[in-house]
Amino acid sequence: MQSYKMFIGGQWVDAAGGEQFESQNPFTGKPWAMIPRGRQTDVDQAVLAAKSAFTTGPWPQLTPSDRGHLLRRLGDLIAENADMLARIEVTDNGKLINEMAFQLRYIPQWYYYFGGLADKIQGAVIPIDKPQTFNFTRHEPLGVCVGITAWNSPLLLLAYKLAPALAAGNTFVAKPSEFTSASTLEFAKLVEKAGFPAGVFNVVTGFGNEIGDALTCHPDVAKIAFTGSENTGRHIGQVAARTFKKVTLELGGKSPHIVFDDAEIDNAVKGVISGIFAATGQTCIAGSRLLVQRSIHDRFVERIVEFAKRAKKGDPLLTGTQVGPVTTPPQYRKILEYIGVAKGEGATCVLGGGPASGPEVGDGGYFVEPTIFTGVRNEMRIAQEEVFGPVLACIPFDDEEEALRIANDTTYGLAAGFWTRDIRRVLRMSERLQAGTVWVNTYRVISYLSPLGGYKHSGIGRENGLDSIQNYLQTKSVMIST
Ligand code: NAD
Repeated sequence: MQSYKMFIGGQWVDAAGGEQFESQNPFTGKPWAMIPRGRQTDVDQAVLAAKSAFTTGPWPQLTPSDRGHLLRRLGDLIAENADMLARIEVTDNGKLINEMAFQLRYIPQWYYYFGGLADKIQGAVIPIDKPQTFNFTRHEPLGVCVGITAWNSPLLLLAYKLAPALAAGNTFVAKPSEFTSASTLEFAKLVEKAGFPAGVFNVVTGFGNEIGDALTCHPDVAKIAFTGSENTGRHIGQVAARTFKKVTLELGGKSPHIVFDDAEIDNAVKGVISGIFAATGQTCIAGSRLLVQRSIHDRFVERIVEFAKRAKKGDPLLTGTQVGPVTTPPQYRKILEYIGVAKGEGATCVLGGGPASGPEVGDGGYFVEPTIFTGVRNEMRIAQEEVFGPVLACIPFDDEEEALRIANDTTYGLAAGFWTRDIRRVLRMSERLQAGTVWVNTYRVISYLSPLGGYKHSGIGRENGLDSIQNYLQTKSVMIST
């Protein structure tokens, strides 16, 4: 079995108490790696290392161009090691190898892009309304930034945070999910190899209610960038407020995916399928509420069912597999519980509706059948609460106004998608949908160039894109008497 160490202050270390915990392979249900179980002492060490690197090490002496160069070098190393990192993520979280390999090959772009931005952070000269006063602004790093991430895309979610944080001159402590820590620890080897000074990037591993909380409370941490569930996000926001930490929160969703009767149906079918079943439904942007115009509802749902029925379940490391396991045992139980809730609420299960079995899925993995419910009303729990699994809730609507009302009738607002050929409707709908990202005639497109974040309970702030570097900067106004 693989045994990992944490990366603190440029050293590879065991947890201070020597404890470890198992990381399981969701396809086999068996442990495959041992991960250090960090505690408060380890958090203190990591934050101290990051604080020293920020204040006294070679890092603050580097020019912004030097930082950019290091980030681009890191991007190259990720590209060279993309397949290895993808295999580790698949072993840890059960996502399909094709998808993870694609994702890992794209991740270097974050390091290239923000590396390129490092030497373009500029202040301004202010034409101030005071006599004999010269006023300019500087954009300065915050200090020690912490990235706390979910288990579904560990290195992608880290890239959203780490690349802009380092480009801006901060130092960083990463806390990956306890379910998928291995790839972040492997990634730290590449950071070391790229030549970043010791303490600029640190990884502590362990449980959220232990080290996650310790990081959120720590007085020397300036910023928490979090991706995870609404409840944890709310808790982090409350705790971080006590010490006035800057916070960005990327949380859950219950995204509406709307199909109008004038849509290009073949494309819409593919979009809806990938919107909900990719990564076994475990994506924050999953189009988990399917709203279909009543005139085409039954025919469209039949097409979706036919498509989903044929999906090949199995080992996520095999390229032919289309449905992998759910990542964690608690998630597996939660999905099955929600399927029970939907049945209890009176929704009709037209596909799946339980654990998947058979020789192709083995006997230890956490497989759930792709599941589709019709006859769902938007007030049902299955339409309001995030399942984070391969469960689609179908709701018919009559016209655009009704589609909008249903789509926006949720506490979430991460993403929304719709399919139509009517350009005027495109403009109307994209203005009125309450979501941080709106896809039209496409779904699940993510780019380092485009802001990602939530309306309403789906979060605070935006990651990615030019402006996201501001998440890691603070502005100083300097006034000089002339
Ligand atoms: P989670 O909230 O359980 O855990 C996320 C991280 O928070 C983990 O690293 C965990 O250890 C840590 N954590 C847990 N308790 C903590 C505490 N008290 N203090 C500090 N840290 C703590 O979420 P999850 O189950 O890992 O991920 C699934 C959720 O993530 C879903 O809701 C999904 O929608 C969301 N997500 C959002 C995005 C986005 O970009 N908006 C992307 C991916 C996932």
